[in-house]
Amino acid sequence: MNRELTVLGTASQVPTRYRNHNGYFLRFDEQGFLFDPGEGTQRQMQFAGLSATDITRICVTHFHGDHALGLPGVLQRISLDDVPHEVTCYFPGQHEHYFERLRFATPYFARAKIATQPATTEREYDLDRGLRLTVAPLDHGIPCQGYRIDEPDSVRMLPGKLAAAGIEGPDISRLQKQGWLGDVTLADVSEPKPGQSFAFLMDTRRCEGAERLAANVDLLVVEATFLETEAELAESFGHLTARRAARLAADVGVRELVLTHFSQRYPIDEARSRYLAEAEAEFDGQIHIAEDLARIPFPKRQSGG
Ligand SMILES: [Zn+2]
Repeated sequence: MNRELTVLGTASQVPTRYRNHNGYFLRFDEQGFLFDPGEGTQRQMQFAGLSATDITRICVTHFHGDHALGLPGVLQRISLDDVPHEVTCYFPGQHEHYFERLRFATPYFARAKIATQPATTEREYDLDRGLRLTVAPLDHGIPCQGYRIDEPDSVRMLPGKLAAAGIEGPDISRLQKQGWLGDVTLADVSEPKPGQSFAFLMDTRRCEGAERLAANVDLLVVEATFLETEAELAESFGHLTARRAARLAADVGVRELVLTHFSQRYPIDEARSRYLAEAEAEFDGQIHIAEDLARIPFPKRQSGG
């Protein structure tokens, strides 16, 4: 199992000397999700040791520049590097024309296999191995959507109990398939293995879509552009504050929280502690104040039962 979030950039509207524009890469077993590639994403991937081949899906929340101006470079790079697999791009369908413009912003030999999944309402996509990707609209003033990834619940077979019950070889898969074998049930020789989940929310006020996508996830990446001192600005421009993001996470049962997308208005030496203080006042779980090129391991799987 190989699951990890790599933070490529943590700035909001403008990059700073310390923060690149947005970009997040989630490795989830065989899948590599690239979220909201802002300018400079290719270079940040280089620093992080990621290649175009690592990307299997690109998820764009909305087409404000800081979330999408890295797309032309990344898509061209996928072609240049002859990435052999198809890469599927998800984005708000109302702005498909922006996606197409970015995809063909300048001339290049577009030989990559790019699939598109524009959405205008809540949608669910079944990916490989039972993984489900859900998109739902957010509240940002222009079409904007958040993402959620769910792994299905399953069971872990217990070799000791299988042996004790005398079950071996093909009988194990028979038992897994039908749920019983003779008088042994699956529950007798296995333990529950709860699926893991992840959500990604950028540029939104608190809304129903955000709450639904983040409900009970193991790891939530959420924008906290502002601090509470700028709560009115946040509300009028369709953003969250650190406090509101953490409150949302606490209300819907998030396990671990990553705050990012920070306004350049807060000096770097004090931003971190101010963000953390606001979030800690609302959220009891582990909080990461994202830094460029940070690697955040996926939280450990909750024990079953
Ligand atoms: Zn925006």
